[in-house]
Amino acid sequence: MSPFHRTLDQLALLATLRGDGGEAVLWKRALDLVRANHIESDVDTGPLFENPPPGCAPDVLKRLRQIYEAGGWVLIESAVADLPADLRWLFESGAVTIEQLEVVQHALGITSGADLAEAVREQQLRVLPGLDAGVEAAVAMALPGLRDRVPRIPLGRAVSVAEQVLAPLRSVPGVAWATPVGSLRRGQDMVGDIEILAPTAQPAHAIAALLELPEASHVLHRSERRLYVLSDRVQIGVRLPEPVNAGADLLYLTGSREHFEKLREQAAAAGWTLRADGLHASDGTFKPAASEGEIYAALGLPCIPPEIRNGDEEVARAIEGTLPALVAREDIRGDLHMHSVWSDGRDSIEAMVEGCRALAYTYMAITDHSPHSAAARNLTLDGVKKQADEIARLRERFPDIAILHGCEVDILPDGRLDFPDKVLERLDIVLASMHERAGHGPEQLMKRYTSAMKHPLVTIITHPTNRLVPSRRGYDIDYDRLFELAVETGTVMEIDGAPSHLDLDGALARRAIASGATVSIDSDCHRAEMLERQMLLGIVTARRGWVERRHVLNTRSLEDVQAAIAAKRGPR
Ligand SMILES: [Zn+2]
Ligand SMILES: [Zn+2]
Repeated sequence: MSPFHRTLDQLALLATLRGDGGEAVLWKRALDLVRANHIESDVDTGPLFENPPPGCAPDVLKRLRQIYEAGGWVLIESAVADLPADLRWLFESGAVTIEQLEVVQHALGITSGADLAEAVREQQLRVLPGLDAGVEAAVAMALPGLRDRVPRIPLGRAVSVAEQVLAPLRSVPGVAWATPVGSLRRGQDMVGDIEILAPTAQPAHAIAALLELPEASHVLHRSERRLYVLSDRVQIGVRLPEPVNAGADLLYLTGSREHFEKLREQAAAAGWTLRADGLHASDGTFKPAASEGEIYAALGLPCIPPEIRNGDEEVARAIEGTLPALVAREDIRGDLHMHSVWSDGRDSIEAMVEGCRALAYTYMAITDHSPHSAAARNLTLDGVKKQADEIARLRERFPDIAILHGCEVDILPDGRLDFPDKVLERLDIVLASMHERAGHGPEQLMKRYTSAMKHPLVTIITHPTNRLVPSRRGYDIDYDRLFELAVETGTVMEIDGAPSHLDLDGALARRAIASGATVSIDSDCHRAEMLERQMLLGIVTARRGWVERRHVLNTRSLEDVQAAIAAKRGPR
């Protein structure tokens, strides 16, 4: 590909990254135009303006001409398109010129918004050649905007993109450990750029290994201990610090900013100064920290789990010694929500059973969709019977796991359930939910939930807000009332780990348990190989909601789960 084609490609990419769909379309069309006319360099573009080919869109030509006349190809190619996203936006926001940006980047080794924030805080920009306090102030002003301008990707996608780099990185000799930082490590629903920390004394080995990955074909930045690449429109940054102080890097880069501020206050009270690079004593000595725990310990605190580092009350609770013991993967004994080929799942029940056995669950529930759900394929009345026979056969073959026969029944517009009671009462567990967009107002939605939750056969309400990450907001209903109702009726609220749901989210899960409701953490899996990942996404979301093992139905034994189901069903 000629450099000229590559430039146009990058402009399209840049516009897409910036969220400007219209501009991205213009550049894609410009690229077609250039290719169709065998244009190899910006010099060749001139005749195009004199004699445009037939069918050439005027808006495309105009945009090309603007850049051509500004002599801008080379400028954009070399200085902006191949920068890490935060720096690119800093230039585009007008806070700095390209020359100033180069000085900042090279003198201070800055690649991200987190670096910039610390450099501004430490007043390091104003003393650089060609910069002054005014530029530093402009950068400070632009900083909050940078965060919002970097496009966010859903947690599920971020996790899978990060894994492609984490796994090979962990196998490089000399890499002590590798973990994502920032919003990804904190398990936020939507994640900005992906940044990975992997301490090593031999960064060259790690860089060489990374450059062999297909994800690293487009390098944005490369220095001794950093590599930033753009892969499928997602920026992945890898930092390779010395292990001896990597705990300080991990703490600072994980954030949140608000949490770090609270720690700074705590440090000041304990006679330390906490900076991005760690703890400094008043006599000027520096205390390196190989792990985060060493910094928390110096501040008299236990290590605070990343998922609750929001800067609200976690530091105060850590000081009091009343941090929650958050639910963890090893607490989970079974998965109560998944689909098979009997509805819109991809795999057979047998494949799902094998998947759950591999995760060492002691129980699982097959919960296919009812006839009126919006799913592509649904369980029929006749299907329920045949499915029961299939499950009976599998129970004989796999006595080491309890296979519950359940369903995820739709709550119909009038509040009734989408299977007759005489079908539901033969099932081991009934999950109920709504799947359609909120065509109904809050009152009507609440009525539907109320009648489903009062139904003795309904154990769990799945994905209660029915949001879709990132495109659809959840139902606008009174959730505190919903959670009260959950307590009154003995109905469990789900934290659904499917990447498009993550529902309840952390904030709502926290309100649910505060009201006394029990939650379940389920995969809502449609493919056996995703059982573990979606369960982990559910657990991270629950941890964001301060959920502990005692709040979660499926951390209990099979007998206790069955007892909870039976208690609501009442005497036969
Ligand atoms: Zn569902
Ligand atoms: Zn489901």
